[in-house]
Amino acid sequence: MKAGRILIVEDERIIAMDLQLQLQALGYTVCAVVATGKLAIDKAKEERPDLVLMDIHLEGAMDGVDAATEIYLALKTPIVFLSAYAEDATLQRAESALPYGYLVKPVSPRELHATLQMAMSRSHIQQDADALLGRFSKAMQAARLEIWEWRADIDHLNIYSLNGLDMLPRNQVISEPIRNFLEKIDRRDLPAVMQAMEQTRQEGGSFTVSFRLQDGGADGERWLEAHGKRFDELHQNCRIIGVLQDITTRRQTEERLRQAVTVFDSTAEGIAILDAERKVVSINPAFTEQTGYSEAEALGWASIDSLYLKPHSAGLIEQLQNGERKLWQGNVSYLHHRGHSISIWESLSAVPGHNGKITHFVLVFSDISSVLAAQEQLDFLAKHDPLTNLSNRRMLFDRLEYELAQATRHRKMVAVLLIDLDHFKHVNDSLGHAAGDHLLTIIAARLQACVRASDTVARLGGDEFCIVLGDVRAPSQIDQTAQKLLDKLSEPVQLEQMTCYVSGSIGIALAPTDGAAVSELLRNADQAMYGAKQAGRNRCCFYAPAMQKAAEIRLQISSGLHQALEHGALRLLFQPIVDLADGKVVKAEALLRWRHEQTGEISPSVFIPIAEECGMIGPISEWVFDEALRQLSRWLSSLDRAPQVSINVSALHFRDEQNHTRWIHKAREAGMPTNTLVLEITERLLLDADPKVRQALDLYRSAGFMIALDDFGTGYSALSYLKQYNLDYLKIDQSFIRQLDVDARDQALCEAIIALAGKLDLQVIAEGVETKRQANFLLEAGCRLGQGFLYAPPMEADAFIELFCKTNAAYHPSG
Ligand code: C2E
Ligand code: MG
Ligand code: MG
Repeated sequence: MKAGRILIVEDERIIAMDLQLQLQALGYTVCAVVATGKLAIDKAKEERPDLVLMDIHLEGAMDGVDAATEIYLALKTPIVFLSAYAEDATLQRAESALPYGYLVKPVSPRELHATLQMAMSRSHIQQDADALLGRFSKAMQAARLEIWEWRADIDHLNIYSLNGLDMLPRNQVISEPIRNFLEKIDRRDLPAVMQAMEQTRQEGGSFTVSFRLQDGGADGERWLEAHGKRFDELHQNCRIIGVLQDITTRRQTEERLRQAVTVFDSTAEGIAILDAERKVVSINPAFTEQTGYSEAEALGWASIDSLYLKPHSAGLIEQLQNGERKLWQGNVSYLHHRGHSISIWESLSAVPGHNGKITHFVLVFSDISSVLAAQEQLDFLAKHDPLTNLSNRRMLFDRLEYELAQATRHRKMVAVLLIDLDHFKHVNDSLGHAAGDHLLTIIAARLQACVRASDTVARLGGDEFCIVLGDVRAPSQIDQTAQKLLDKLSEPVQLEQMTCYVSGSIGIALAPTDGAAVSELLRNADQAMYGAKQAGRNRCCFYAPAMQKAAEIRLQISSGLHQALEHGALRLLFQPIVDLADGKVVKAEALLRWRHEQTGEISPSVFIPIAEECGMIGPISEWVFDEALRQLSRWLSSLDRAPQVSINVSALHFRDEQNHTRWIHKAREAGMPTNTLVLEITERLLLDADPKVRQALDLYRSAGFMIALDDFGTGYSALSYLKQYNLDYLKIDQSFIRQLDVDARDQALCEAIIALAGKLDLQVIAEGVETKRQANFLLEAGCRLGQGFLYAPPMEADAFIELFCKTNAAYHPSG
């Protein structure tokens, strides 16, 4: 039994004194005696008594009940009321202050003592229980647990919220029928919750179930976990009590972890987790797939270094370990399980632990061998010609640019050789494109064999190749290479059981003399190549500035020709061909004229070859033919007979068979009598011994055309081809006539040609007869026909027909 410290609150002094004495006699210590509620509160806070003996009716604004209530709430000090009254109203008020006893005055010492002892003892028990509950509640809060209780008998649920839940603020209680609670659960999880609860209710034991709430709100899903156990207490119906916990964060973490595991297992990238010493802790399936090592093998390595062909430098690892660097990325090579190396794109990152020290490394990689191979292939394709594998134009430009820079630095020369195959088109046309392609690959290999490995050989397209020779010390070095190229090219090529002979024309431009820029050099090499072609092909030609001028003129002419055709700037003149014996005009040669707007009259011997090159010869030939037909038709309609007219035909005309059928058709349509039209062809056409040409000539002849071989004697010395063709006229080139008066050799040649023609049954026409002596000599040698300024220059159609009519009446040339 313990006698404590008592605070007496009593406004009647006598009674207060009496109480004090009584208590002291009983062994209590009276720490203070006060008379008002206000003082009682102050003193209680100051003295912290074990008990307050409180009179209910006190003087002042505050009575004993109010003061007691405040003291108990603030200090939990037990209160025993002391009052002269014990009627119900007073008792009821007193009750609200949660007193530990109520004494009605006067009080006997025994009664007082017993009441005080009971009150203090109960207060101690209460304080212990409060402390326990306080600790329990804090522990529940620490674990973020809420308490719930399901009274299965009355189907009622209580939730005591210690932490605050979505549905319930902190420190509050829900008390509602169980169905209200179940309604808040997500439909997907409800069956599991109900099943767990029902089973526990029926069979006892405990359960754990997690579920989502119906409306997770803006933050996404809310997850709760409920634990419950059935308690069967004596005389009570079954209750299930348990805790409820918000596990949203845990769930999210678990979900993230699950996703991470899925990524780890299913990603195409190889992954290895390493510890701080870079020993393998785990690898994913892609690691094994790409490197060939099993997890057991990788875990057995002393460090991940075993994987590398050349491990990372110690410096890099140190930087990652001491946090100076968080991530390294780059290309490395791994050693595959089977012993070969694989190209890898790798990311190596350091993972710090809670204290900031690196605890792990994560290695993520992908095998990029095939990507690199594809890239190399693409690079190659972008810079090479797919047929021959030689460099393409783009690569050539790059290399030439590089060589030019080198040459400037070291004061050396660079040579650009542009090579065009001669008559490659014939191969394509006669043997087909596959054979043409085959030939190009053979040529490519030959060209490459003639130069050093450091020189560039490129195919620019079609049958055009280019070689860049760097580090050239003297032009003679280029001569030798060019000659080697020509020799190599002219070696026979075996194509589909046929032996072909090709040759090339090579144009050469030198840097720095012929230009310092890539485009300029290529342009000039092209000029030179053109020069080589002009000079008879199968040769090389160095660039000369005069070629540039010629090229400009060619360009001007080819563009001007289009307009000339469109705007009617072409005319057809007629040069009389006369009987040398009497000067009578027998027929005419149609000669084309073009008056250029700026440059004036341009000779056909200049523009015809250009028209042949730029593809304009077709329309021009057609115009000439139509114009000749038109004039002939005019003359035919007014005269009883028309003079024979010869027109010059380009060799290219014979490339397309449709040209022949069309001309024959046109001549027929125009009603041309037989032998009115003569086609003048050149030796060049006959030299190839092309059966198609022979057929075409025969076709024309059978359609009433005649054929003249123009400029005879200038082209080729072989005469054997003459007998293979059916011709009508042979025109002695004017170069043999020019010196006929004075040059005995020309005289001999002319006599020989005339004799030869006689034997072959061909009529001879002499071109460019300018003097009477020439005419006489020709006549004596047996040549009947001639044309030249001695008789008449080429003239307009009307002037010609007038002359024709006049001389055919009676006309003798003078001279
Ligand atoms: P070609 O067929 O040999 O024509 C004869 C050339 O000699 C003509 O030159 C003519 O004007 C010229 N000539 C005539 N008499 C004399 C003379 O006494 N002395 C000199 N020195 N020359 C004379 P033109 O008209 O300049 O034609 C040149 C060449 O152009 C022609 O040579 C022919 O190969 C070609 N040509 C002319 N017109 C055509 C055409 O319509 N089509 C084609 N494909 N070529 C044509
Ligand atoms: Mg002619
Ligand atoms: Mg001629």
